[in-house]
Amino acid sequence: MVADTFDYVIVGGGLQGCLLAHAVAHHRPAARMLLVEKADELCGNHTWSFHESDVPPEARNWFDPLVAHRWPGYLVRFPGLSRRVELPYATITSDRLRNETLSLAAVSLDTAGRPCLDVRTGEACDIAGPTEVIIDGNEPVRCRAVIDCRGLTASSGPPRGVGFQSFIGREYQTERRWPASEPTVMDVRQDQADGFEFLYELPFGPHRVLLEYTRFHEDSGCDPQRAEDLIAARLSDAGGGAAVVVRTEQGCLPMPYARADRGDRRSIAGGYAGGWYHAATGYSMPLAIRFAELVARTRPERLADELAAAGSEETLRRGFARMLNRLLFCLVAPTDRWKVFQRFYRVLPEQRIARFYGHRFTVSDAARIVIGRPPTGLTPIRFARSFLSA
Ligand SMILES: Cc1cc2nc3c(=O)[nH]c(=O)nc-3n(C[C@H](O)[C@H](O)[C@H](O)COP(=O)(O)OP(=O)(O)OC[C@H]3O[C@@H](n4cnc5c(N)ncnc54)[C@H](O)[C@@H]3O)c2cc1C
Repeated sequence: MVADTFDYVIVGGGLQGCLLAHAVAHHRPAARMLLVEKADELCGNHTWSFHESDVPPEARNWFDPLVAHRWPGYLVRFPGLSRRVELPYATITSDRLRNETLSLAAVSLDTAGRPCLDVRTGEACDIAGPTEVIIDGNEPVRCRAVIDCRGLTASSGPPRGVGFQSFIGREYQTERRWPASEPTVMDVRQDQADGFEFLYELPFGPHRVLLEYTRFHEDSGCDPQRAEDLIAARLSDAGGGAAVVVRTEQGCLPMPYARADRGDRRSIAGGYAGGWYHAATGYSMPLAIRFAELVARTRPERLADELAAAGSEETLRRGFARMLNRLLFCLVAPTDRWKVFQRFYRVLPEQRIARFYGHRFTVSDAARIVIGRPPTGLTPIRFARSFLSA
């Protein structure tokens, strides 16, 4: 039986849960936390990228040590457009976040010499109420605030009104030097017969690169052979010589265009579970950092009110992001979707791109994104029907 002395129980040790542990340890060093993860290890197997401009200055102290790779800018390539975006870009890896979180648990002690962070893995946790969880079905633990960071699995029932962003990624050790030193965030030169698809490339070092096939589609999943072929073509183009796979990652992220039904919430929720992610880009980082900062700076008893106020400030942006998904998945034919992204990178200057990805966009940014000549291949009847189904 765990002693009843926790300020926070964080349920779910993925991106949001671990960021939150670091933010709380930094801003409230006397707080005691319990982080419970049902998998055997924290953090899964991900590469979480973001724009450096997503990180507010007040989060830098606790956030910066978590960053595994940084680049001064990145490329996007489309038919008719190749651009270097001059926005610093960076990545947190699961390995780095896991190790930093375990180190935090090992070294941080409160004034009574107890660990500030207890981590328990391989144990599922049910949320019984705003201040109580049940671990492994039989161990109740009380605290001042339970924070639900269970990610996608926290949502009730199958997703409704969503498109999907699916990925198959391989990290390689290459025999010869990789020719690029900056990421290519979208390489859309290939034919687009099967929806919007592109290659994503992160060079982690002179001989280390992640190549990820990504597909945005109304169906989840992607064709592994298609991914293999496009990744193999890039390896061959790049002339990296023999390449050994050192890691693979795969996933599928729902991109909602209908408002999510958050069901009967028993506690405060962050990350994907609480809608603290960017619905239109799939990037969680900007809002996950914002949530972590807010929780860490607020007394547990005030959290529900403060988060409701912060959430309502995001309402319009969340609605706009969902509307973009509806336009993309319901109005534009799969073969023409790439044109939406090509236009985004053709017309927007860096600062607007940064605000969009950072979920800080203004009304004028939103107008600049949607107002203009529409792409060809529109399906207005399907679009109208989408409002009836979701
Ligand atoms: C392949 C892929 C690539 C992505 N790339 C990016 C990117 O580059 N940048 C970015 O910002 N976002 C990216 N995303 C999105 C991002 O990964 C997710 O939105 C993000 O992980 C959400 O964070 P989270 O903490 O809410 O959920 P998760 O990171 O999924 O963590 C939830 C955790 O809760 C645990 N859990 C669930 N139920 C219980 C329970 N009952 N008890 C205990 N533990 C439980 C799970 O095991 C899991 O570890 C990507 C997504 C995918 C699929």
